[in-house]
Amino acid sequence: MEALAEHTIAFNGLNDGRHAFEFTLGDAFLEATGVEDFLGGNVHAQVELDKSTHLLVTNITVDGHIRMLCDRCNAPMDQPVQGTQRQIFKLSEEEESDDDELVSIDPNAHEINLTHYLFECISLHLPIRHVHPEGQCDPEVEDALEKVQVHYEADPDPRWSVLQDLKTKEN
Ligand SMILES: [Zn+2]
Repeated sequence: MEALAEHTIAFNGLNDGRHAFEFTLGDAFLEATGVEDFLGGNVHAQVELDKSTHLLVTNITVDGHIRMLCDRCNAPMDQPVQGTQRQIFKLSEEEESDDDELVSIDPNAHEINLTHYLFECISLHLPIRHVHPEGQCDPEVEDALEKVQVHYEADPDPRWSVLQDLKTKEN
């Protein structure tokens, strides 16, 4: 996603040592990610930055929820998201290393932008499947799903019995 100005840290003005930053990633941020599944939400991001002469070590922690459609009933739900990611920026002309955690930046740079890393931290910690907690799905869909299940149990898919027959013959 595109860098947002509010996530820029002008580190040249900072003393060596630890600094803390906080960001609120709300509806506007989630829309700017371009991810169609994100319907809104609110995620609090804490960034700890440890500055030394040639290195900026950042620890990004996200905690909040993103509004998405439930994979089971398709109604909106708040998916909790929590996690931490470490990212190290090296002020160096060297080529980028294979290490994802380490990124080389221009030794003359004065600032870094964290939009991409905040987005990455959220993406990495979102579960692949998002469903309502047990019993909180849309009751209409729940009923329909139950009927389908009963139907399957009573009258199994004929394709299965064909497969079963084949298996029996092989044995
Ligand atoms: Zn649901």
